[in-house]
Amino acid sequence: KGGATPAEVLRAEARTAHNYHPLPVVLAQAEGAWMTDIDGRRFLDMLAGYSALNFGHGHPRLIAAAHAQLDRLTLTSRAFVHDAFADFTAGLGDLCGKELVLPMNTGAEAVETAIKVSRKWGYDVKGVAADSARIIVAAGNFHGRTTTIVGFSDDPDARDGFGPFAPGFDQVAYGDLAALEAAITPDTVAVLIEPIQGEAGVLIPPDGYLRGVREICTRHNVLFVADEIQAGLGRTGRTFACDHEDVVPDLYVLGKALGGGVVPVSAVVGDREVLGVLKPGQHGSTFGGNPLACAVGSEVVAMLASGEYQSRAAELGLVLRERLDAMIDKGVVAVRSRGLWAGIDIDPAIGSGREVCERLMARGVLAKDTHGSTIRLAPPLVISAEDLQWGLDQLAAVLA
Ligand code: PLP
Repeated sequence: KGGATPAEVLRAEARTAHNYHPLPVVLAQAEGAWMTDIDGRRFLDMLAGYSALNFGHGHPRLIAAAHAQLDRLTLTSRAFVHDAFADFTAGLGDLCGKELVLPMNTGAEAVETAIKVSRKWGYDVKGVAADSARIIVAAGNFHGRTTTIVGFSDDPDARDGFGPFAPGFDQVAYGDLAALEAAITPDTVAVLIEPIQGEAGVLIPPDGYLRGVREICTRHNVLFVADEIQAGLGRTGRTFACDHEDVVPDLYVLGKALGGGVVPVSAVVGDREVLGVLKPGQHGSTFGGNPLACAVGSEVVAMLASGEYQSRAAELGLVLRERLDAMIDKGVVAVRSRGLWAGIDIDPAIGSGREVCERLMARGVLAKDTHGSTIRLAPPLVISAEDLQWGLDQLAAVLA
């Protein structure tokens, strides 16, 4: 069978804003690393919901946790306390080695939360004058789609046409410690960076960068806010991408895999000195920390606590890297990877990233391009070594 017909794809697109350009596949079911379309054709998932599906589709532990909670209690709002909340916040706080957890829903909301907390900390604790707090961000960043966040992006697609934007952000080159330190002023309250830039094409900063950011932030009394929404929770072979340099930020910003690919769950995690600046009425979310989210999130935390998924990502990451390195000069120009996460720059003579992904789809592999000729691979961490090899065989064949 040939997969989705144009008519089915058009029907799916007809009544939505055209803010995405999906591959022409109509999926109906999935398990582990495999997805099935409406005609029963199977595809290997090499994107994993941009890292939201680190544990694969329908992981039995996550589905069981969700089912059990669905039958009991799904929403209270935080006007009341519910009995799944404390386990989640304590478990996630322990995983991060931090005192407090503030749950939200989407990644962008968690980033917005970290921005608000950083500013409030700046005024209440650091003593910055009212409304003058500044936050340093990196060129090439991707932190979400709200107006504040796209306002400090340098991607014209993300930003153009959506102003006016919130002031108070200074952008410096990613990976450049001297530029970072030079940008710090007495009003700087935080440095917000991705420890690895995912949307930019899995850009890994130079060795020592994260340690340097930590050191500079500490020396200048500035918060280090690590957006680990795409990089964190096992993807890179460690619990957090910051772990590769033994660095602990002041705030972790988490999302995607925190909800196990089942429900949207995000969080900001930090110590009382920072997150404790929020008082009742100053921040909130109707769905943030809801019982279903907490039940699934607690199971995610328990799964990560064993270290099993981090080890798998590290081991399979070596296989991934070895295979991709062998494709250099055979259709691949450059490879960047950490754990089970890779950015692959394709020789433009072979086709655009989009065209390569369409050819992969025809061979039963689903992946997605980012920024023109780069393809990002982020298979579920539960993928078998054989399936990973098979998926990479398809990539090699498409590039040959
Ligand atoms: N931060 C990073 C590093 C991301 O990769 C993303 C999404 O890709 C976000 C924030 C935004 O998350 P969400 O789409 O859940 O708002």
